[in-house]
Amino acid sequence: MSATEPVRVAVIGTGMIGQDHIRRLSTVLSGARVVAVNDVDPARSAEVAAGVGATPYASGEEAIAATDVDAVVVTSWGGSHEQYVVASIAAGKPVFCEKPLADTVEACTRILGAEVAHGSRLVQVGFMRRYDPAYRAMKEVVDSGRIGDPLIMHCGHRNPSVPGYYTKESAIVDTAVHEIDLVRWLFGEEIAAVRVLTPRKSKNGGELQDPLLVLFEMAGGAIVDVEVSVNIRYGYDIRGEIVGEDGTVSLADSGPVTVRHNGSYSGRVPADWRERFIRAYDIELQEWVDGVAAGQPAAGPSSWDGCAAQAVADAGLAALASAERVVVTLPERPALYA
Ligand code: NAP
Repeated sequence: MSATEPVRVAVIGTGMIGQDHIRRLSTVLSGARVVAVNDVDPARSAEVAAGVGATPYASGEEAIAATDVDAVVVTSWGGSHEQYVVASIAAGKPVFCEKPLADTVEACTRILGAEVAHGSRLVQVGFMRRYDPAYRAMKEVVDSGRIGDPLIMHCGHRNPSVPGYYTKESAIVDTAVHEIDLVRWLFGEEIAAVRVLTPRKSKNGGELQDPLLVLFEMAGGAIVDVEVSVNIRYGYDIRGEIVGEDGTVSLADSGPVTVRHNGSYSGRVPADWRERFIRAYDIELQEWVDGVAAGQPAAGPSSWDGCAAQAVADAGLAALASAERVVVTLPERPALYA
């Protein structure tokens, strides 16, 4: 690979987000080409590979090892991430892994060990909210000190509906996990403890405990509340407001226009997370491709961030099950992630 040649990418896991990232790498972003593909379903792998002129491989490991592959994108199911991330590190190839980094803290810790032994950062985890222009503007306000030290953050994570297999645990590990990474990044500190409150159930959720109110105690003493409502019907609505000592900063409504008509005004609420975060996904992968092309160590959310998010999610599950305050237990943070 030279500075002018595209980064040649292997994509492992060609389901929903895998195909979306292949589309993004092939037709939206610059400087990348998908050359290798693998999925547990060989027919799907072959079909997706044919669509972009890539080679389908019988295993993820073979795709990673291919001599014409410079970098790897892992978009298979969470339980399989560790094996592909570790294989990428062993091959010395940069790897972008969709969240979760792995589905247990122990597996995340093994990835940390492999990357530390390699000696520099190769792994980036797909926490795309850090690339959302609105959240970046929010972080810029916090970091500027204009609103003083943050004291409280209110978050809303509202989905119009969820599939039948979604459980109250999914609300922590699949939904609130995005706020877990987000607030660690916005506040620049770890989450120390978690509580989960269970309000009256929405009639729209059937037996599901929906909504949940998740409370994070930040290491510096600020409190974050996250309303997770996954059958809100009206759209995909992401809310956020930080209350500082001297002011507040909130996410603005994201619609491009406001319509005033017939005595009222209205704007668009995104239909789903793809619409709300499409720019964030594009920026996230473009910055990753650019960093790989420049031969730089990974700069986005790290293996440590993936590991810490998993530890907080585990505490969240324990808090949900016990209705108690649960202290987050983090492994030791290696110097590589200082
Ligand atoms: P999906 O549609 O089920 O796609 C996963 C794909 O990987 C499927 O084709 C699956 O095959 C395949 N697969 C499963 N195990 C594999 C293995 N060991 N080796 C190779 N391929 C394997 O799921 P998805 O919604 O795309 O999610 C994929 C990952 O992305 C998950 O970790 C999810 O949490 C993450 N994700 C992140 C975001 C985000 O906002 N950052 C959004 C969506 C998804 P089968 O269907 O045959 O099992």
